Amino acid sequence: MESKLTPTVEDYLSILWVLERDGEPVVGARLAEILGVTPPTVTNTLKRMTRDGLIAVDDKSGPYLTEQGRRAAQSVMRRHMLSEWLLLRMLDWSKTHSQAHSIEHTVSAELEAALQNNLENPQLCPHGNPLPGFEHVVANWQPLLSFMTGDRVIIRRVHELAEQNPELLAFLEEHQVMPGKTALIVEILPFNETITLQIEGQSTTLGYAVARYIFAEAA
Ligand SMILES: [Zn+2]
Ligand SMILES: [Zn+2]
Repeated sequence: MESKLTPTVEDYLSILWVLERDGEPVVGARLAEILGVTPPTVTNTLKRMTRDGLIAVDDKSGPYLTEQGRRAAQSVMRRHMLSEWLLLRMLDWSKTHSQAHSIEHTVSAELEAALQNNLENPQLCPHGNPLPGFEHVVANWQPLLSFMTGDRVIIRRVHELAEQNPELLAFLEEHQVMPGKTALIVEILPFNETITLQIEGQSTTLGYAVARYIFAEAA
């Protein structure tokens, strides 16, 4: 059954899963924006997914994953994140997501199990996002913007929705804004919507729009 899902449907499943997990409303316009397609395309794909029993549509709150859809979505997420770890052995951190995105659809259940074993059952992807079932691991990490000037933090997570932007990931990697790095919050300018960090002696300014995707804990 799982092997019959197309890459497009698997992409929709993982986005729906992330939005549901975060309690974000699932609306067609938002899906279109995230997936970079037109709203009519989204409507058509959602219709097919409803027909195939992967999602159901609530008149008020919109599409949601059925039990079958949720299981399939979790499998795609796992295959994606395990592929990222595999690729990290040969690629830059900022390139693992996009490459994993193209190979995740061809990872069989057998390879998934082998990867899980070989990678020693990771709970997080290289960007700090939880594998399905490990949401509790990230629950106490706070959005970067909830800290104050002078705080020293450990960067823990760059959210899945930011992973989709390769230029952003390359920028973060170049400036060491990556899980495990210690950062000093040098300056927060609300009127400018910027936060400036110092990591390994290097100073980096992020806009709030980017900082919202980054989670940390007090060092
Ligand atoms: Zn990813
Ligand atoms: Zn990742």
